[in-house]
Amino acid sequence: MGMDVRSQSCDYLRDGNVVVCTAGPGNFEPPEYVRARVTGRSATYLVRFNGGCWSCTCKDVDCPHVAAVQMVTGHPSLARKAATR
Ligand SMILES: [Zn+2]
Repeated sequence: MGMDVRSQSCDYLRDGNVVVCTAGPGNFEPPEYVRARVTGRSATYLVRFNGGCWSCTCKDVDCPHVAAVQMVTGHPSLARKAATR
C-alpha cells in the first residue's frame, strides 16, 4: 500500500474516526493530557498523551493514530500539512 502517515491520519479524520474523549486541563492549549479513540478498519486504538509522551495501543513507530490526535489537539503532528507561508 505504502500510504504515508499523513495520508492515513487524514483518512481517519475525514471519515470521522477520531474521537477525543478527554483533553485538559482547562483552557490549556495544547492540552497536557489527552485520551482519544481512533476507529480503524480492523481494530479500535486508544491514544494517550501524558507526561509529555504519546502512546497508542497499535505500538507502531510511525503511528497514524497518534498523528491524527495530535493534529486535532494542537500538538505538532506528522499529519499537519507542511507550512507554505
Ligand atoms: Zn496507533
